[in-house]
Amino acid sequence: MPSSLKDTTTLHNGVKMPWFGLGVYKVQEGDEVISAVKAAIKNGYISIDTAALYQNEDGVGRAIKESGVPREDLFITTKVWNTDQGYESALQAFETSIQKLGLDYIDLYLIHWPVKGKFIDTWKALEKLYKDGRVRAIGVSNFHVHHLKELLTHAEIKPMVNQLEYHPHLTQLEVHEFCKQEGIQLEAWSPLKRGKLFDDPVINNIAKKYRKTAAQVILRWDLQNEVVTIPKSVKEQRIIENATIFDFELTMEEMKKINGLNRNERVGTNPDSFDL
Ligand code: NAD
Repeated sequence: MPSSLKDTTTLHNGVKMPWFGLGVYKVQEGDEVISAVKAAIKNGYISIDTAALYQNEDGVGRAIKESGVPREDLFITTKVWNTDQGYESALQAFETSIQKLGLDYIDLYLIHWPVKGKFIDTWKALEKLYKDGRVRAIGVSNFHVHHLKELLTHAEIKPMVNQLEYHPHLTQLEVHEFCKQEGIQLEAWSPLKRGKLFDDPVINNIAKKYRKTAAQVILRWDLQNEVVTIPKSVKEQRIIENATIFDFELTMEEMKKINGLNRNERVGTNPDSFDL
Protein backbone atom coordinates (compact mmCIF):
# COMPACT_ATOMS: atom_id res chain seq x y z
CA MET A 1 0.00 0.00 0.00
CA PRO A 2 1.44 3.40 -0.93
CA SER A 3 2.61 5.28 2.12
CA SER A 4 3.54 8.67 0.64
CA LEU A 5 3.07 10.96 -2.33
CA LYS A 6 6.35 9.65 -3.70
CA ASP A 7 5.21 6.03 -3.84
CA THR A 8 4.87 4.49 -7.26
CA THR A 9 3.30 1.65 -9.16
CA THR A 10 5.57 -0.15 -11.60
CA LEU A 11 4.20 -0.11 -15.13
CA HIS A 12 4.65 -3.19 -17.30
CA ASN A 13 7.77 -1.69 -18.91
CA GLY A 14 9.38 -1.13 -15.51
CA VAL A 15 8.74 2.64 -15.35
CA LYS A 16 7.61 3.83 -11.94
CA MET A 17 4.48 5.99 -11.93
CA PRO A 18 3.31 7.85 -8.81
CA TRP A 19 0.00 6.62 -7.38
CA PHE A 20 -1.13 10.17 -6.78
CA GLY A 21 -0.95 13.41 -8.77
CA LEU A 22 -2.53 16.75 -9.58
CA GLY A 23 -5.01 17.11 -12.47
CA VAL A 24 -5.23 20.48 -14.21
CA TYR A 25 -8.30 20.23 -16.44
CA LYS A 26 -10.04 23.62 -16.69
CA VAL A 27 -7.25 25.32 -14.80
CA GLN A 28 -6.48 28.59 -16.54
CA GLU A 29 -3.24 29.06 -18.45
CA GLY A 30 -0.96 31.59 -16.75
CA ASP A 31 -1.03 32.52 -13.08
CA GLU A 32 -3.73 30.05 -12.04
CA VAL A 33 -2.05 26.93 -13.38
CA ILE A 34 1.44 28.11 -12.41
CA SER A 35 0.42 28.68 -8.80
CA ALA A 36 -1.58 25.42 -8.54
CA VAL A 37 1.28 23.29 -9.90
CA LYS A 38 3.85 25.07 -7.76
CA ALA A 39 1.68 24.64 -4.66
CA ALA A 40 1.33 20.94 -5.42
CA ILE A 41 5.06 20.40 -5.94
CA LYS A 42 5.90 22.44 -2.84
CA ASN A 43 3.64 20.13 -0.86
CA GLY A 44 5.24 16.96 -2.12
CA TYR A 45 3.33 16.09 -5.31
CA ILE A 46 5.58 14.67 -8.02
CA SER A 47 2.99 13.91 -10.71
CA ILE A 48 1.06 16.36 -12.90
CA ASP A 49 -1.63 15.45 -15.44
CA THR A 50 -2.26 17.88 -18.30
CA ALA A 51 -3.33 17.61 -21.95
CA ALA A 52 -3.05 19.60 -25.15
CA LEU A 53 -6.81 20.20 -24.81
CA TYR A 54 -6.40 21.98 -21.48
CA GLN A 55 -4.33 24.72 -23.13
CA ASN A 56 -2.17 25.14 -20.05
CA GLU A 57 0.97 23.19 -20.97
CA ASP A 58 3.00 26.42 -21.07
CA GLY A 59 2.08 27.23 -17.49
CA VAL A 60 2.68 23.68 -16.32
CA GLY A 61 6.14 23.87 -17.86
CA ARG A 62 6.89 27.19 -16.22
CA ALA A 63 5.76 25.94 -12.83
CA ILE A 64 8.02 22.89 -13.19
CA LYS A 65 11.01 25.14 -13.91
CA GLU A 66 10.19 27.54 -11.10
CA SER A 67 9.55 24.74 -8.59
CA GLY A 68 13.26 24.10 -8.17
CA VAL A 69 12.65 20.34 -8.17
CA PRO A 70 14.84 18.43 -10.65
CA ARG A 71 12.83 17.51 -13.72
CA GLU A 72 13.77 13.83 -13.39
CA ASP A 73 12.12 13.69 -9.97
CA LEU A 74 8.76 14.57 -11.56
CA PHE A 75 6.29 12.54 -13.61
CA ILE A 76 4.55 14.54 -16.33
CA THR A 77 1.58 13.28 -18.33
CA THR A 78 0.08 14.92 -21.40
CA LYS A 79 -2.31 13.73 -24.12
CA VAL A 80 -2.85 13.95 -27.85
CA TRP A 81 -6.18 15.60 -28.64
CA ASN A 82 -8.81 14.10 -30.94
CA THR A 83 -8.35 16.51 -33.85
CA ASP A 84 -4.64 15.66 -33.93
CA GLN A 85 -5.15 11.93 -34.23
CA GLY A 86 -3.52 10.03 -37.10
CA TYR A 87 0.15 9.13 -37.47
CA GLU A 88 1.79 12.31 -38.74
CA SER A 89 -0.52 14.70 -36.93
CA ALA A 90 0.00 12.94 -33.59
CA LEU A 91 3.77 13.18 -34.02
CA GLN A 92 3.35 16.87 -34.79
CA ALA A 93 1.05 17.36 -31.77
CA PHE A 94 3.68 15.76 -29.56
CA GLU A 95 6.30 18.25 -30.74
CA THR A 96 3.95 21.12 -29.92
CA SER A 97 3.20 19.74 -26.44
CA ILE A 98 6.80 19.07 -25.52
CA GLN A 99 7.82 22.51 -26.74
CA LYS A 100 5.10 24.21 -24.71
CA LEU A 101 6.05 22.22 -21.64
CA GLY A 102 9.70 23.08 -22.22
CA LEU A 103 10.75 19.49 -21.54
CA ASP A 104 13.12 17.07 -23.26
CA TYR A 105 10.87 14.09 -22.68
CA ILE A 106 7.39 13.23 -21.39
CA ASP A 107 6.88 10.57 -18.75
CA LEU A 108 3.49 9.40 -20.00
CA TYR A 109 1.82 10.26 -23.30
CA LEU A 110 -1.81 9.23 -23.74
CA ILE A 111 -4.36 9.01 -26.54
CA HIS A 112 -7.07 11.22 -25.04
CA TRP A 113 -10.11 9.47 -26.61
CA PRO A 114 -10.54 6.42 -28.88
CA VAL A 115 -11.33 8.28 -32.11
CA LYS A 116 -12.82 5.71 -34.48
CA GLY A 117 -10.76 4.87 -37.53
CA LYS A 118 -7.83 6.86 -36.19
CA PHE A 119 -6.67 5.56 -32.85
CA ILE A 120 -4.63 2.69 -34.33
CA ASP A 121 -2.57 5.08 -36.45
CA THR A 122 -2.24 7.39 -33.46
CA TRP A 123 -0.99 4.45 -31.42
CA LYS A 124 1.68 3.73 -34.08
CA ALA A 125 2.89 7.31 -33.58
CA LEU A 126 3.04 6.82 -29.80
CA GLU A 127 4.99 3.58 -30.32
CA LYS A 128 7.49 5.49 -32.44
CA LEU A 129 7.87 8.19 -29.77
CA TYR A 130 8.41 5.47 -27.19
CA LYS A 131 11.01 3.63 -29.27
CA ASP A 132 12.77 6.92 -29.98
CA GLY A 133 13.04 7.60 -26.24
CA ARG A 134 10.89 10.74 -26.37
CA VAL A 135 8.42 9.32 -23.83
CA ARG A 136 9.02 6.93 -20.96
CA ALA A 137 5.58 5.32 -21.17
CA ILE A 138 2.57 5.38 -23.50
CA GLY A 139 -1.06 4.73 -22.82
CA VAL A 140 -4.67 5.45 -23.58
CA SER A 141 -7.60 7.21 -22.03
CA ASN A 142 -11.31 6.50 -22.18
CA PHE A 143 -10.83 3.07 -23.72
CA HIS A 144 -13.54 0.47 -23.04
CA VAL A 145 -12.68 -3.23 -23.27
CA HIS A 146 -13.66 -3.38 -26.94
CA HIS A 147 -11.40 -0.40 -27.76
CA LEU A 148 -8.53 -2.06 -25.92
CA LYS A 149 -9.10 -5.38 -27.70
CA GLU A 150 -9.05 -3.65 -31.08
CA LEU A 151 -5.89 -1.79 -30.14
CA LEU A 152 -4.17 -4.92 -28.86
CA THR A 153 -4.70 -6.75 -32.14
CA HIS A 154 -2.65 -4.06 -33.91
CA ALA A 155 -0.25 -2.93 -31.22
CA GLU A 156 3.39 -3.85 -31.01
CA ILE A 157 3.59 -2.31 -27.55
CA LYS A 158 0.81 -2.77 -25.04
CA PRO A 159 -0.48 0.43 -23.42
CA MET A 160 0.96 0.89 -19.95
CA VAL A 161 -1.97 2.93 -18.62
CA ASN A 162 -5.69 3.44 -19.25
CA GLN A 163 -7.01 6.67 -17.72
CA LEU A 164 -10.77 6.81 -17.37
CA GLU A 165 -13.61 8.27 -15.36
CA TYR A 166 -13.64 6.38 -12.09
CA HIS A 167 -15.25 7.12 -8.72
CA PRO A 168 -17.65 5.42 -6.30
CA HIS A 169 -20.58 5.97 -8.69
CA LEU A 170 -18.64 4.49 -11.63
CA THR A 171 -16.43 1.61 -10.57
CA GLN A 172 -15.65 0.29 -14.06
CA LEU A 173 -15.37 -3.33 -12.95
CA GLU A 174 -15.25 -4.88 -16.40
CA VAL A 175 -12.52 -2.68 -17.83
CA HIS A 176 -10.60 -2.74 -14.54
CA GLU A 177 -10.56 -6.54 -14.57
CA PHE A 178 -9.47 -6.59 -18.20
CA CYS A 179 -6.68 -4.09 -17.52
CA LYS A 180 -5.45 -6.14 -14.57
CA GLN A 181 -5.25 -9.25 -16.76
CA GLU A 182 -3.32 -7.34 -19.41
CA GLY A 183 -0.99 -5.57 -16.99
CA ILE A 184 -2.41 -2.14 -17.86
CA GLN A 185 -2.50 0.29 -14.91
CA LEU A 186 -5.88 1.95 -14.35
CA GLU A 187 -5.89 5.68 -13.59
CA ALA A 188 -8.94 7.62 -12.37
CA TRP A 189 -10.10 10.90 -13.85
CA SER A 190 -12.77 12.94 -12.06
CA PRO A 191 -12.05 10.79 -8.98
CA LEU A 192 -14.19 13.16 -6.90
CA LYS A 193 -17.00 13.12 -9.48
CA ARG A 194 -16.30 16.85 -9.71
CA GLY A 195 -17.67 17.45 -6.22
CA LYS A 196 -20.88 15.44 -6.65
CA LEU A 197 -20.11 12.77 -4.04
CA PHE A 198 -19.48 14.87 -0.97
CA ASP A 199 -23.03 14.52 0.41
CA ASP A 200 -23.06 10.74 0.32
CA PRO A 201 -23.93 9.41 3.80
CA VAL A 202 -21.91 6.19 3.49
CA ILE A 203 -18.76 8.11 2.59
CA ASN A 204 -19.41 10.73 5.27
CA ASN A 205 -19.91 8.15 8.01
CA ILE A 206 -16.60 6.56 7.17
CA ALA A 207 -14.97 9.99 6.99
CA LYS A 208 -16.21 10.85 10.48
CA LYS A 209 -14.71 7.69 11.92
CA TYR A 210 -11.22 8.61 10.67
CA ARG A 211 -11.63 12.40 11.10
CA LYS A 212 -11.09 12.76 7.40
CA THR A 213 -13.06 14.55 4.69
CA ALA A 214 -15.23 12.83 2.10
CA ALA A 215 -12.63 13.73 -0.54
CA GLN A 216 -9.89 12.02 1.45
CA VAL A 217 -11.94 8.85 1.92
CA ILE A 218 -12.71 8.65 -1.80
CA LEU A 219 -9.07 9.18 -2.81
CA ARG A 220 -7.89 6.61 -0.27
CA TRP A 221 -10.45 4.18 -1.71
CA ASP A 222 -8.85 4.69 -5.16
CA LEU A 223 -5.43 3.72 -3.84
CA GLN A 224 -6.71 0.67 -1.97
CA ASN A 225 -8.38 -0.43 -5.23
CA GLU A 226 -4.97 -0.07 -6.91
CA VAL A 227 -6.08 2.83 -9.08
CA VAL A 228 -3.79 5.81 -9.73
CA THR A 229 -5.61 9.05 -8.92
CA ILE A 230 -5.22 12.70 -10.02
CA PRO A 231 -7.75 14.97 -8.28
CA LYS A 232 -7.90 18.57 -9.39
CA SER A 233 -7.85 21.63 -7.19
CA VAL A 234 -6.34 25.09 -7.55
CA LYS A 235 -6.61 25.88 -3.84
CA GLU A 236 -3.51 25.10 -1.81
CA GLN A 237 -5.53 23.99 1.22
CA ARG A 238 -7.41 21.42 -0.86
CA ILE A 239 -4.26 20.37 -2.68
CA ILE A 240 -2.81 19.53 0.74
CA GLU A 241 -6.05 17.98 2.02
CA ASN A 242 -6.41 15.68 -0.99
CA ALA A 243 -2.93 14.29 -0.50
CA THR A 244 -3.25 13.69 3.24
CA ILE A 245 -4.45 10.14 2.80
CA PHE A 246 -1.45 8.06 3.76
CA ASP A 247 -2.13 7.99 7.50
CA PHE A 248 -5.26 5.82 7.61
CA GLU A 249 -6.52 2.62 6.04
CA LEU A 250 -10.06 1.65 5.09
CA THR A 251 -11.18 -1.77 6.28
CA MET A 252 -12.30 -4.45 3.82
CA GLU A 253 -15.85 -3.84 4.92
CA GLU A 254 -15.58 -0.11 4.29
CA MET A 255 -14.04 -0.77 0.88
CA LYS A 256 -16.99 -3.05 0.06
CA LYS A 257 -19.48 -0.43 1.21
CA ILE A 258 -17.93 2.20 -1.06
CA ASN A 259 -17.64 -0.28 -3.94
CA GLY A 260 -21.37 -0.88 -3.42
CA LEU A 261 -22.22 2.74 -4.22
CA ASN A 262 -21.66 2.09 -7.93
CA ARG A 263 -24.49 3.31 -10.19
CA ASN A 264 -22.62 3.23 -13.49
CA GLU A 265 -23.23 6.97 -13.48
CA ARG A 266 -20.94 9.37 -15.32
CA VAL A 267 -20.18 13.02 -14.81
CA GLY A 268 -18.30 13.13 -18.10
CA THR A 269 -18.77 11.77 -21.59
CA ASN A 270 -19.25 8.10 -22.46
CA PRO A 271 -16.41 6.81 -24.67
CA ASP A 272 -18.99 5.00 -26.82
CA SER A 273 -20.91 8.13 -27.70
CA PHE A 274 -18.50 11.01 -27.60
CA ASP A 275 -18.53 13.82 -30.09
CA LEU A 276 -15.50 15.77 -28.98
P1 NAD B 1 -12.30 15.97 -9.86
O1 NAD B 1 -13.19 14.82 -9.58
O2 NAD B 1 -10.86 15.89 -9.54
O3 NAD B 1 -12.99 17.20 -9.17
C1 NAD B 1 -12.39 18.46 -9.18
C2 NAD B 1 -13.29 19.46 -8.48
O4 NAD B 1 -13.58 19.03 -7.16
C3 NAD B 1 -12.52 20.77 -8.33
O5 NAD B 1 -12.87 21.65 -9.38
C4 NAD B 1 -12.93 21.29 -7.00
O6 NAD B 1 -14.01 22.16 -7.19
C5 NAD B 1 -13.44 20.09 -6.26
N1 NAD B 1 -12.51 19.67 -5.18
C6 NAD B 1 -11.27 19.15 -5.31
N2 NAD B 1 -10.76 18.83 -4.10
C7 NAD B 1 -11.71 19.16 -3.20
C8 NAD B 1 -11.78 19.06 -1.79
N3 NAD B 1 -10.78 18.55 -1.08
N4 NAD B 1 -12.91 19.50 -1.19
C9 NAD B 1 -13.93 20.00 -1.90
N5 NAD B 1 -13.93 20.11 -3.23
C10 NAD B 1 -12.82 19.70 -3.88
O7 NAD B 1 -12.51 16.33 -11.43
P2 NAD B 1 -11.66 16.58 -12.73
O8 NAD B 1 -10.86 17.80 -12.66
O9 NAD B 1 -12.62 16.44 -13.85
O10 NAD B 1 -10.67 15.31 -12.80
C11 NAD B 1 -9.36 15.32 -12.29
C12 NAD B 1 -8.33 15.33 -13.40
O11 NAD B 1 -8.50 14.22 -14.28
C13 NAD B 1 -8.45 16.53 -14.36
O12 NAD B 1 -8.02 17.74 -13.78
C14 NAD B 1 -7.66 16.05 -15.53
O13 NAD B 1 -6.28 16.16 -15.26
C15 NAD B 1 -8.09 14.58 -15.59
N6 NAD B 1 -9.21 14.36 -16.54
C16 NAD B 1 -8.98 13.58 -17.64
C17 NAD B 1 -10.00 13.34 -18.53
C18 NAD B 1 -9.75 12.46 -19.71
O14 NAD B 1 -10.59 12.40 -20.62
N7 NAD B 1 -8.64 11.78 -19.77
C19 NAD B 1 -11.27 13.90 -18.35
C20 NAD B 1 -11.47 14.70 -17.23
C21 NAD B 1 -10.45 14.90 -16.33
